[in-house]
Amino acid sequence: MQTEDITFKITGRDAKKLNEFQKLHDGCLEELAGDRFSYSFSPTSLGMAITVSCSCGQKLFLDNFMDHDEKEVAMS
Ligand SMILES: [Zn+2]
Repeated sequence: MQTEDITFKITGRDAKKLNEFQKLHDGCLEELAGDRFSYSFSPTSLGMAITVSCSCGQKLFLDNFMDHDEKEVAMS
């Protein structure tokens, strides 16, 4: 199965955003599955876009790859 090979990292600014989002939604109802947050991953040409959804319907978009992109762009 391919899924075993997929790893992801939430680092730096995104980790902070995620932390704040989770704190903010600490009082939200847990879903039946027992998980308050669900994560979805969308591979893009720039990297992995991560969407975190709370059970209340709010979403957090993590776009860490954008940061990487900025650093890696060669200004000529
Ligand atoms: Zn919430």
